[in-house]
Amino acid sequence: MRWTKLSRSIGASRSAGVPPAVQSASRAPSVHATGLFLIFTLTLVAAILLSAAPPEKHLAVFSVAANYSLPLVQREGRSYVGLLELLEPLGKVTAKSEGPRWRLRYNNNAEGVFQIGKTHARVQGRDADLSGRFLVENNRGLVPVASLPSLLPRFLGGPVTLHEASARLFIGSVGTHFAAALSAENPPRLVFHFTAPVNPSVATEPGALRMTFSREPLVAPASPTLTFGNRTIPSAIYSESNGAAVVTVNAAIPVMATFSSDGRTITISSTSTAASASSGSQNANPPASGTAPNTGVPNGVPNGSVPNSSAPTLSGQPAQTLPGTPPATPVSTRRYFAVVDASHGGDDHGETLSATLLEKDVTIALARSLRQELESRGIPTLVLRDSDANLTLDQRAIFANTDHAAIYIAVHAASNGHGVRVYTALLPFDGDDRGTFRNWSTAQHASLPLSQSAAAAVAAEFQRRQIPVRTLTAPLRPLNNVLGPAIAVEVAPLGSDSSQLTAPDYQQLVTSAVATAIAATRDQLGAAQ
Ligand SMILES: [Zn+2]
Repeated sequence: MRWTKLSRSIGASRSAGVPPAVQSASRAPSVHATGLFLIFTLTLVAAILLSAAPPEKHLAVFSVAANYSLPLVQREGRSYVGLLELLEPLGKVTAKSEGPRWRLRYNNNAEGVFQIGKTHARVQGRDADLSGRFLVENNRGLVPVASLPSLLPRFLGGPVTLHEASARLFIGSVGTHFAAALSAENPPRLVFHFTAPVNPSVATEPGALRMTFSREPLVAPASPTLTFGNRTIPSAIYSESNGAAVVTVNAAIPVMATFSSDGRTITISSTSTAASASSGSQNANPPASGTAPNTGVPNGVPNGSVPNSSAPTLSGQPAQTLPGTPPATPVSTRRYFAVVDASHGGDDHGETLSATLLEKDVTIALARSLRQELESRGIPTLVLRDSDANLTLDQRAIFANTDHAAIYIAVHAASNGHGVRVYTALLPFDGDDRGTFRNWSTAQHASLPLSQSAAAAVAAEFQRRQIPVRTLTAPLRPLNNVLGPAIAVEVAPLGSDSSQLTAPDYQQLVTSAVATAIAATRDQLGAAQ
C-alpha cells in the first residue's frame, strides 16, 4: 500500500473495524504533496476500533527520503526487522549469503558482514554490537530493532533516533511539531497547528476523539498532557504505540475534526455547531462579555476552517481577524516563563554573515546559550526552534501564544553595526480590534507597554556592561502577533569581524546580560500572566 493522501478512505475502512491500511509493509515513499486538499469535514459517527483484532507489529520509519513501515517479527524475546528491507528505500542496497555469512552493501561504499547466530557484526571494518543474535530466514537478514540506533549510522553516516517502545525510527533530523490552543467560544474550539502537513485517521468514541498519525514523524509536545482549563474540552493527551503517534482529545460533548486546506491545521469543534464553524463566518462567534485586556490567554491561532488559513510568511500581509478570548478563562497551563525563538532556520538562512556563516546557525547557538543563562537564574525556558527546522512566523507566534510565556524573545544576528539592538513591535495603524475579535496583525497591542519596559531593562543591562546597545521599534514579525510581552534581540559583533558572533564567550556575554535583565523584571512580567 502506498502512503498517499488518496488512501484516506476513512469512512470505509475504519467503520468496518479494519486496522489502518498503512500497517502492511511498504517501501513506497510517502507522497506528501501539498495543496491536494479541499476543505474536508469529517463527521465520524460510529468509528470504534475497540473490537478490531490486535494489529500486526510493525516499525514506522521516518526520513527525509521516505516514510515507510516494515513488519516486525518476534524472535528470542526481541523485535527483529529485515535489514535489507529497512535500507532499501534509502539508497542502493544489495545483500548476499555466503554460507554462515551475510554480506550487505549500501550505496556501494558501506559494507557490513554479519554471521548467523553471532551478536556482533563488522560494518566498515569495525565491530558493531547487535544486542542480540543475527538471524537469516528465507535469505532475509534479521537484526534486533534495538541495534538500529548504533548500527544504522555506520551505513547512513547520520544520526538515528529510535523510540523503541512505540517502534518509531527517525533517520536524520525529521520531526513534525504541534501546538494546541483553545478558543473560549461556547462551545469551545480546539485548534491544532502543525509544522508540516498531516493526515491522521480520526476515530471518535464517547468522551474522546482520537487522531492517529501513522505516516507523520509527529513528536511529543513538552508535556504529553495538554490541559486547557475548560470543562467542555478539558485536555488532550499525546501517546505513541506500534509505529503511530496518537493525540486523544477529551471532550464532554460530541466533537468532530475539520482539516484546513493546507493540512497544517486541525480544528476540533462541537458537532452541533459545525455548520456555522465551518462557514468561515467570524460573526458566528458569540460576543464576549468581558472587556478586560486580553493578555496571556492563548488565541493567536488562525481560524482553522477559514480557506487559505495557511500561515502567511514574511511577505504576506495577514489581515486576518481572529475570534476574541474572554478574560474569564483561567490560565493554568503555562509551562515556560520564557520562549526563546531562534529566528530563521531550514530554508530561511537569514543574513549571510560571512562566506561560511549563516544567521540561522548563529541564532540557534545564541538561543541555546540564552536558555542556559535564563535557566541558571531559575527561569523555565523553551527554545522554540531547537533544530534546523522551517517554522513560519505565524507558527512561531502560535507556539509562543500557546505556551502562555511571560516573555517571548526572538534572537537575530547581523554583520552590520556594533553591539546589540533591542526591538519591540511597531504595530500597523489599520489593525484595530473590532468588537470581540483580536486582529492577528495587532495581537501584541495590549502587551506593548510591558514589552517596552522589558526592552528598556535589557538595554540598561547592556549599557551597564558597556556593550553598545540601541532600542528600536520596528514592524518586525512575529512580534506583532504575540499576545504577551515580546522583544527581539539582534546581535552584531563589537568590531567588524562577524566571526565574533560564533565565539562562545561573546555569545555568553550577550545572553547573560539579557537573562539578568529578564530575571530582574520577572515579577513585573509574571504579574501580567
Ligand atoms: Zn534575522
